[in-house]
Parts: sequence; C-alpha cells; structure tokens
Amino acid sequence: MTAPAIRPPYLDPAADALLAAAPTPRRALFLDRDGVVNVNHGYVHAPAQTDWVPGIFALVAAAAARGYLAIVVTNQAGIARGLYDEAAFLDYTAWMHREFARRGTPLLATYWCPHHPEAGQGGYRVACACRKPAPGMLLAALARFSLAPEASFLVGDHDSDVLAAAGAGVAGRRVDRADWGDAMAGLLAFAP
Ligand SMILES: [Zn+2]
Repeated sequence: MTAPAIRPPYLDPAADALLAAAPTPRRALFLDRDGVVNVNHGYVHAPAQTDWVPGIFALVAAAAARGYLAIVVTNQAGIARGLYDEAAFLDYTAWMHREFARRGTPLLATYWCPHHPEAGQGGYRVACACRKPAPGMLLAALARFSLAPEASFLVGDHDSDVLAAAGAGVAGRRVDRADWGDAMAGLLAFAP
C-alpha cells in the first residue's frame, strides 16, 4: 500500500490576509497541539474538553509581533482509532481557530495526521508520511506557504515533534509543564 496523501490543511478564514501581511522571508511558529495549545487530557475533540495551556496566547502574540505565522501540526490517532471522525475534528479545529482569532492571536492553518500504523482502523492503519516524527506535515506547510525553514521554529512536547521539525530543517524546542505560563513567550529566545 502506498503512503496516503497528506491532508490539505484547515485554513483560517483570515489566511489570505495573514499571508499578505507577513514579512518576507515568511516564517512559521509550528505548534504541536495537545500539550502545547490545549492541555492533553487524551483525544480532546470538543470545546468542553478544552483547557488552554497557560501562556499559549502570549506565545502566539509575541511570535506574531516578530512576524511568525502560527501553524498547528498535530497527530490525531483518535481519528485512526475511530474515537471521532475527520468531520468532528474539523468542526473542533474551526472552533479553536475562532478562539484564537477573537483573542487577536490568529492561527494560519492546522495540519493533522489521521493515521496510525498499528492502531488505525481500515484505511487509517497505514505507515504514512505525516505522522510525526515524520516531517511530512511541516514539509507540506513550508511548500504551500513559501516558508523559510531556517527562519521557522517549532514548539512541541515530545521528541517526535522536535524530530519532525529537524527533518524539515526547522529548529524545535521541547517543552513541558515547567514552561507553561509566563515562560511560554520566552521560548522565542530559542527561535531563529
Ligand atoms: Zn498520517
């Protein structure tokens, strides 16, 4: 079986305006989702399950002030496992984008991998190019939005996030709860 195509991203309704306003070379702040954007309670896919990671909005605001476009890159094994479907994921993603936009810290796009090589059901059980640590989602974003990898940065909470970034030529930083709160925006000290 050949590897499935990487899903086109969920694009924020303001994506065109965000891209037009971005300085060049274009740079991204890539964000893992669970554990970086929202607290990882396990397979979060509804607003009622969502607790924002303290400091995430300040991080995106500080990054935007430096010209970074915020892009979420998330493994969604819950889709592969049949816990929720891609339509539900996209509904939730649209809500998440609205929550960021209304705080003045819009996200440009969200990329997701719905696969899992062992636990996936049906066609979702596949070795793909998008599940991190593979760099496929980042490579797709770099190409689609003409982003400069050497000017971009990733924040994740697993080694697989940082490995995915490295595979795309992007610097990455692994964070944990000790980085939540006021320290989040300070992570940009490690960014190019
Ligand atoms: Zn995948």
